[in-house]
Amino acid sequence: MLSPAYFQRMQAPSIFSKISPPTLFLLQEIGKFGEKTAQSVYVVGGFVRDLLIGRENLDIDIVLEGDAVRFADQLAEAWSGKVQVHCTFGTATVIRPDGSKVDFVSARNETYARPGALPSVRYSIIEADLRRRDFSINALAIRLNPDAFGELVDCTDGLRDLRAGHIRVLHDRSFIDDPTRIFRAIRYEGRYRFRIVEGDQQRIREAIAQGVLDLISGQRVRNEIDCILSEVTVPRIIRRMLEFDLFRVVHPEWDISPHFDARWHAAQQAIDWAEQHLPNDQIDTAAILWMTLRSTVCGAIKAVSDRLALENQLREKLIAQAKLCSVLDTLSASSTPSEVYRLLNPYPLEPLVFTLKQPNQPDWRIEKIQDYLIYLRGVQPLITGDDLIQLGLKPSRAFADVLWKVFAAQLDGKVSTKLEACQLLEYKT
Ligand code: ATP
Repeated sequence: MLSPAYFQRMQAPSIFSKISPPTLFLLQEIGKFGEKTAQSVYVVGGFVRDLLIGRENLDIDIVLEGDAVRFADQLAEAWSGKVQVHCTFGTATVIRPDGSKVDFVSARNETYARPGALPSVRYSIIEADLRRRDFSINALAIRLNPDAFGELVDCTDGLRDLRAGHIRVLHDRSFIDDPTRIFRAIRYEGRYRFRIVEGDQQRIREAIAQGVLDLISGQRVRNEIDCILSEVTVPRIIRRMLEFDLFRVVHPEWDISPHFDARWHAAQQAIDWAEQHLPNDQIDTAAILWMTLRSTVCGAIKAVSDRLALENQLREKLIAQAKLCSVLDTLSASSTPSEVYRLLNPYPLEPLVFTLKQPNQPDWRIEKIQDYLIYLRGVQPLITGDDLIQLGLKPSRAFADVLWKVFAAQLDGKVSTKLEACQLLEYKT
């Protein structure tokens, strides 16, 4: 049982006035189902934090003192929805007929066998569940059962920290138990313009000095960086990560450009440009954002990619972007369209798009890359290998040379019909 001291009674209308009526109705339904099955049920975490701040958050995480998977299963049936069970974590997601999702988990506490390891889990009550969380501002819950619908459960002074704009861990070893919280703390600081409290900044430095970041997998670090890159305030977060020297701690060769802010804004503009001008292309915008973080040395990209377990596709794009920088130096204002095509064609779209808006590019270079992206790369050759075979030529190395020469002439506007291309072909062969 929770001691009443842990409750802060909030006026339900004041808390819920910022929730849309359908979401409010949904929470009431979940609460009533809790009552029907005699289980205490709470909405927790980011939803509550953002509700109290007055920020919309559509991720509904429900904690119940009972069997979450069974509860989700029954509720999905009542809603005529579907349920996805995640056995490893004992959690379930209900997908409602309108496509909206609600996550369910049993109240639990966690212990860590060693720093950086994934926790072992035991079922418990809401208070223990809140105390295992990362920061006080994320350790808030609202009761949904009709007996006390809207009651705030705040056993770690989360509301006080939320009002003060403080990020605070719940125990001294928090960053050692789970070093990903270092990234999370900095991310929330940047997102809300909050401040990690002094003592916790010191704990972060001590945890880093102990080498805790070496203990977590590349995949986990990578997930945190992905979350950071999806924030609106990325430059502020990166500056703070640099203050903690986090990149070099993750990998000694990971250096971030001193002009990161300019790179970031240019990348955003390039993505906007691509959305407008290349609507039929599937551009991997995440890869473009990763390019703002890449090391300046090609060898270091490989080493950092290994540390972060980046998938081949992403690492190849990062390496291509590094190589592209030197290739672009061989372009000149007088380069012909066929020269531009030959130089840029081996590269994936993302490094080319990324480069477009980067600072200190001469206008002529931007125009040539844009011309390649919008027009040149889509030009279909007037003459193909099949045409050469029909003319009785045997495929050979020279074959490719001839085809390229005719195609180059086409790109440069020297031939514009198949007949002209054939005449040139006869001349070249
Ligand atoms: P965001 O807006 O960043 O998604 P969120 O609070 O919804 O915020 P999630 O990563 O979805 O963040 O996590 C949900 C909740 O789970 C958090 O509010 C927090 O209470 C808890 N949590 C997440 N990660 C950790 C962690 N590493 N250690 C402890 N608790 C965590």
